[in-house]
Amino acid sequence: MPELPDVELFGRYFSHHCLGRKIQAVELRSETILRDRSKKEIEVALKGKKFLSVKRLGKYLFVEVQSSLFLVLHFGMTGFLHAFKGKNPYDMHTRALFHFVDHTHLAFVDMRLLGLITLTHSIEAFAQQLGPDALLISQPAFRLLFKKGSVKSVLMDQKKIAGVGNIYCDEILFFAGLSPHKEAASLTEKEINKLYGSMKHVLKKAIEANVESTRMPATWLIHARQKQTLCPKCKAPIDHIKIGGRSTYFCPNCQRA
Ligand SMILES: [Zn+2]
Repeated sequence: MPELPDVELFGRYFSHHCLGRKIQAVELRSETILRDRSKKEIEVALKGKKFLSVKRLGKYLFVEVQSSLFLVLHFGMTGFLHAFKGKNPYDMHTRALFHFVDHTHLAFVDMRLLGLITLTHSIEAFAQQLGPDALLISQPAFRLLFKKGSVKSVLMDQKKIAGVGNIYCDEILFFAGLSPHKEAASLTEKEINKLYGSMKHVLKKAIEANVESTRMPATWLIHARQKQTLCPKCKAPIDHIKIGGRSTYFCPNCQRA
């Protein structure tokens, strides 16, 4: 599932392939991923325009079309972008196509149809329900979030802090040496500060690694998650449990409750 690092890279990909290109036509193939706008409305709003800039907030991309009009993209569980000329290898699961006048195209691919495409006139208004971006939140604001629930549920609550999903949440807790069961209210100031630093570190490193697990540090939990191996730090068996319905991996030896 695309999380902050993935969406950051999608934003860069979009910028590289689409900014400044004039849109010849937009083809929306699924009503399911449109929230409150019709196909026609989006197609008409974008036709003949250029994409001007891309801003990411949490797991959302906001693409400026003209002053105070933004195309909003969310990638759900399985979404990604593919720019191409000629044949589209992902045609079957392509839900939206942006055709440019220079005969290049961008596909919004989403197998499970849990993504979102819409328009907004204000990023602030659209993002009212979202907390601050995980890479931008200040340390004092972060400290105030830990009042109730488990640490894992706080980090993954997009209304509190935007961008952290299941996989990187586990990695952040592993890096901070905190059990996912740990109660948010029981964290000391020192532990919260460590968690804050771990969050920024893990997210930035994942972006630097191009979200390819093979390029991520050998000491990361993600390797044990994928191959069911032992803890990359202490070699104890990794625990695999469900928290709030989400698959959770942690080392009971390195991560203390
Ligand atoms: Zn360990």
